[in-house]
Amino acid sequence: VVPERQDRIIAAIRESGGRVTTARRALVSALVRADGHVTAEDLAETVQKDHPDVHLSTVYRSLDALEHIGVVDHVHLGHGRAVYHLADERHEHLVCEVCGRVQEVPDAIFEQLAAELLESYGFTIRPKHFAVLGSCRGCATRTPSQN
Ligand SMILES: [Zn+2]
Ligand SMILES: [Zn+2]
Ligand SMILES: [Zn+2]
Repeated sequence: VVPERQDRIIAAIRESGGRVTTARRALVSALVRADGHVTAEDLAETVQKDHPDVHLSTVYRSLDALEHIGVVDHVHLGHGRAVYHLADERHEHLVCEVCGRVQEVPDAIFEQLAAELLESYGFTIRPKHFAVLGSCRGCATRTPSQN
C-alpha cells in the first residue's frame, strides 16, 4: 500500500534525525509513485508539478541527504545518468544491453561471489552501486542478426 510505505519512509527520516522538509516529503512521494528507477531530473519534474518553487539543485541536495540517511540509493544502470530508488526494499540490478530491461534481484545472489572475492583478493564488492550488464533470457536466445 503506497501511502503506508511513504509514511514509513518519512518516519525513518525523522528517526535518523533528518528534517522533513517540503522538498524531501515531495521527493519521497515521487519515488514511491515512480515505483522504479528515475533520474534526478525526472524526480524534479514530478516534484515541480505540485511545488514549482523546488529547484533542481534542491532536488540534488535532498537526494544526497536522503541517501546519507539511508532511505534512498542511486545506481548506475549503464552509460546514462545515475537513477534513484528507495532503499527500503533491497535489491541489485541486472540490465539487458540488448533491450534495456532492468531486472531486480535479491542481494543474496552476490553473497558467494562477495565471499570469494574477499577471501581471494581482499576485495569487498558493493554491487548495489552498479548494475550487472548482460542479456536477458529473451535476448540471449536470439541470434545476433536478429538483435
Ligand atoms: Zn533499484
Ligand atoms: Zn533483453
Ligand atoms: Zn554513483
